[in-house]
Amino acid sequence: METFKTSNGIEYQFVHGLEQAEEITDFRQTSSCFNAHEVNPAIGCDFLCRYCSMYSQYDKEEHVPVKIYSDYPNYLRDYIKKHKNKENLIFNFSPKTDAFSLSMIESGMTENILKIFDEEGVKYYILTKSGLPPKEIQNLLIKSRDKNQIIISSGLPNEEIEAVLEPGAPPSSKRLEFAKFCSQSGIMVTGIVAPYLPIDDDNDYAYKVFNRFLNSGIRHASVQVLKLSVECLNRMCKLLPKYEQRLNQLFDINNAKSIEWKLPGGKTVIRYYADSSYLEKELKKLKLIAKNMNITVSTCKEVCININDVNYNAEAQQRGYNCVGFTKY
Ligand code: SF4
Repeated sequence: METFKTSNGIEYQFVHGLEQAEEITDFRQTSSCFNAHEVNPAIGCDFLCRYCSMYSQYDKEEHVPVKIYSDYPNYLRDYIKKHKNKENLIFNFSPKTDAFSLSMIESGMTENILKIFDEEGVKYYILTKSGLPPKEIQNLLIKSRDKNQIIISSGLPNEEIEAVLEPGAPPSSKRLEFAKFCSQSGIMVTGIVAPYLPIDDDNDYAYKVFNRFLNSGIRHASVQVLKLSVECLNRMCKLLPKYEQRLNQLFDINNAKSIEWKLPGGKTVIRYYADSSYLEKELKKLKLIAKNMNITVSTCKEVCININDVNYNAEAQQRGYNCVGFTKY
């Protein structure tokens, strides 16, 4: 194992062998998730989100050091080559680490993986909170533009809260520069409002988030409200003391619906949905606001069931988008 630091000082390790690496699977977190093969060449993430569904669900957060598996590119190539119909493969790169975070870029892992996707001609999508990646990565994305999609994640109300909750990630203004680059280069790009932080009833918040997308050429957004473990809820209350009462009201864990959530390494945790009457009211409002701005929205199918609106994603589906806004499936 070799240890390095990113240019902003976060530790990452190169791990040889695949013993503790995540397998490539078409794993689905909920029974209604769509099929895509997860590619996770690293565990950990230097964006350090304080609500992260992978690394912030216990008392002790586990984002760093980021472990990067040096043998993963060969494993991925073999996996693709062994697949009978590789043209049907769709990869999700990489749900357990932001593919454009500094450790992934500076270690060369992202470039290696994108080259394999390009050479093998497979489809992939990448959900990210990153700003514009370096030139060589931009070129690889352009090269595969008929087979890829970028989903830009930007959901918090302002950069002040982003700095508290997403301390390692670039601010939304930078992420939207990446979105603009994609739309101007012919790369399919959509948005994900994740997390939509349920702390006020102010419509300005929704307009602000959708306007960011609209101004950078995005016409579809998936909307995801936080699901929190008890430990994560306590952390959020400490980080946002002004909103403590509101958060405890929304995540009323004695009455809320819960889901067993799988974490890297096989651990599980119980996470709670926000109050369903709040979710129903808020998601329906968001859909209306988005419609007036000519944006479609979608959300997780489990949430559609929780808010008694199984047709919530119907308009998005007509435009070819699934629950996370992925389109080339
Ligand atoms: S970018 Fe994603 S994987 Fe990384 S810390 Fe944030 S939520 Fe977790």
